[in-house]
Amino acid sequence: MKVTSAEIVISAVSQKQYPNDPLLPEIALAGRSNVGKSSFINKMINRKNLARTSSKPGKTQTLNFYKINDVFYFVDVPGYGYAKVSKKEREAWGKMLEEYFVERKNLKAAALIVDIRHDPTADDITMYNFFKHYELPVVVIATKLDKVAKNKRESHMRRTMKVLELEDGDVVIPFSSETAEGKEKAWKAIEHFINW
Ligand code: GDP
Repeated sequence: MKVTSAEIVISAVSQKQYPNDPLLPEIALAGRSNVGKSSFINKMINRKNLARTSSKPGKTQTLNFYKINDVFYFVDVPGYGYAKVSKKEREAWGKMLEEYFVERKNLKAAALIVDIRHDPTADDITMYNFFKHYELPVVVIATKLDKVAKNKRESHMRRTMKVLELEDGDVVIPFSSETAEGKEKAWKAIEHFINW
């Protein structure tokens, strides 16, 4: 997809604030904090800084709706896996996600951003299983590909699939926000789910 417009429409904390006018297909984006989620969004939409790291500790945890080309929304789910997050914050985060994933009819798929250098973490696995619980197709983006030697990439991909116990139909796409490798493939996968 050639991105000609991308704007943040709302940072929502509850259902009342989700955009409904127009009701467009949505792709949720999730990943551990610092995994490279903002860099992924920015690379996909050709912007340096639209998706700032708004999900840092201490900041309000929100679902950020980015409208792309007036065709669909990327819905940025706040990063998980902070060591220092309180039980109360974790519960609020869980409740916000639950509300969105249970109710949202126009949610078509999720992209789960993981770090290709390492095995998916327990949090990554939980998130993957969470999506599967809601019967969502998942596109796994294995980012920071530029940091893995070419002859090691295949085995890192296989580990990612194995550790997540990837279901049939779900894909892992190696990606780099530095080199833009994988960008075309990632767009193809996303376009498939929004019927573009
Ligand atoms: P977020 O917290 O998941 O939104 O992570 P960021 O997008 O802010 O990225 C965290 C750090 O990883 C930053 O220093 C980025 O420059 C770096 N980073 C993200 N993606 C890549 C990538 O594909 N390759 C490399 N080499 N660094 C990356």
